[in-house]
Amino acid sequence: MENVVIFDSPGKGRGLKAAKEFWAGDVIFSEASLAAVVFDSLAERVCHSCFRRQEKLQRCGQCKFAHYCDRTCQRAGWAEHKQECSAIKAYGKVPNENIRLVARILWRLDKDGSTVSDMQLTTLDELEDHITDMQEDELKELKVDIHNFLDFWPRTSKQHTVDDISHIFGVINCNGFSVSDQRGLQAVGVGLFPNLCLVNHDCWPNCTVILNHGNQSAVNTMFHSQRRIELRSLGKIAEGEELTVAYVDYMNLSEERQRLLKTQYFFDCTCEHCKNKIKDDIKLGGREVDGVKPSEEQVKEATDYCYQMLEKMDKARLNGDYHEVVKICRECIEKTEPVLAETHIYLLRMWSTMSEVQAYLQYLNDAAEYARKMVEGYTKLYPPNNATLGMAAMRAGVIHWQAGDIEVAHGMVCKAYAILMVTHGPTHPITKDLEAMRVQTEMELRMFKQNEYVYHSMREAALKNKPMTMLHEPKSVEEGIKNLFHRRK
Ligand SMILES: [Zn+2]
Ligand SMILES: [Zn+2]
Ligand SMILES: [Zn+2]
Repeated sequence: MENVVIFDSPGKGRGLKAAKEFWAGDVIFSEASLAAVVFDSLAERVCHSCFRRQEKLQRCGQCKFAHYCDRTCQRAGWAEHKQECSAIKAYGKVPNENIRLVARILWRLDKDGSTVSDMQLTTLDELEDHITDMQEDELKELKVDIHNFLDFWPRTSKQHTVDDISHIFGVINCNGFSVSDQRGLQAVGVGLFPNLCLVNHDCWPNCTVILNHGNQSAVNTMFHSQRRIELRSLGKIAEGEELTVAYVDYMNLSEERQRLLKTQYFFDCTCEHCKNKIKDDIKLGGREVDGVKPSEEQVKEATDYCYQMLEKMDKARLNGDYHEVVKICRECIEKTEPVLAETHIYLLRMWSTMSEVQAYLQYLNDAAEYARKMVEGYTKLYPPNNATLGMAAMRAGVIHWQAGDIEVAHGMVCKAYAILMVTHGPTHPITKDLEAMRVQTEMELRMFKQNEYVYHSMREAALKNKPMTMLHEPKSVEEGIKNLFHRRK
């Protein structure tokens, strides 16, 4: 690990700093998970070895719990499932994901020792568990988990003290990292990456972390190779500068971010953006039209109204009542759009939902308009190389392409591609998709400029093949990116 150095970061405890200069898109380090588990809720839909979502999975004949793509994945996952498999059989049921993760970690440490690779910068003993900071209800849950863990843990495995076990539970509680599926669109499990735990938070960070499943053929040949994170540089980083990532979404007001960080990660954020409340004003601001701004009361009234409608909208969305969602969004947007700034975070949520749902319902022109507004707002709020912004631009690009607006589509796809080259890197499946879209939209754009008639007939044909559809059920594409570390709900 010649790229980073551990140091004492003032007011933050241990941290990592750059041992040399980095540029946008550099991989500062990559790290395999020490252990990882699939979420309870997705145990039958995600491979327990490679963490890919698959339609058809094969069940482990022994425990009937673990699922795999095929024999190859099952063999690759056997080393970490072997003891779990017999423990589940003996226990007669499946413990929850936290207990399964702690068990996998302990089996791994018992087998390989406290440092499983020479790249590992810290042992788990040295990581914070924040158990003394926990609220009463959290402590209660922890006690129940430990109790169940002790029932589950086989007598034939090495025995550990309750203190050691609760330390690991504490560590995964604040450091368990969300593991996403192969396309990075959905969180499907949780894992522990020791070096990543050393990277401190900043609301305006200089690094991002991305999970890269690698390519299919490499997956099965190397143990654990499938679940690697990369710490990537978002811009120029000078030698000696502290490396930071954002644990929470910047789309929140500074007060809200500080609250989230305090309750979830037990520290007070004193970053520049929190100290100076940077951009808070435009996140709840009013719209200026011809130099005239709405009054403070007008803005406040529209903000409160928008907030109430968001709650109503979330409920309708949860019920899958998408026509109701559209009705609520439309009513709210009509009322508040003339008053609220294009960077207003509630209005942005309205636009984002509206574009997603309208795209799903095939009202593509409407969807495209809201997607464009969303990207414009995001661009003014987020740092230039932000993964959420990149994903939003990609979504807007696809919707514009579907709606037949090839000029905007190509621009959005290029914007997304430029960002994801930095945040995800050229080998990530989504970046590769974007590369293909970029080539496709560029060709169509050229054709459109030459001969609109030929373009439209070619587009009809392309739409029939649907090479670029993303018509999944609308359930937030950004899920799994918003909060860096997994927290149990
Ligand atoms: Zn698999
Ligand atoms: Zn099994
Ligand atoms: Zn902050």
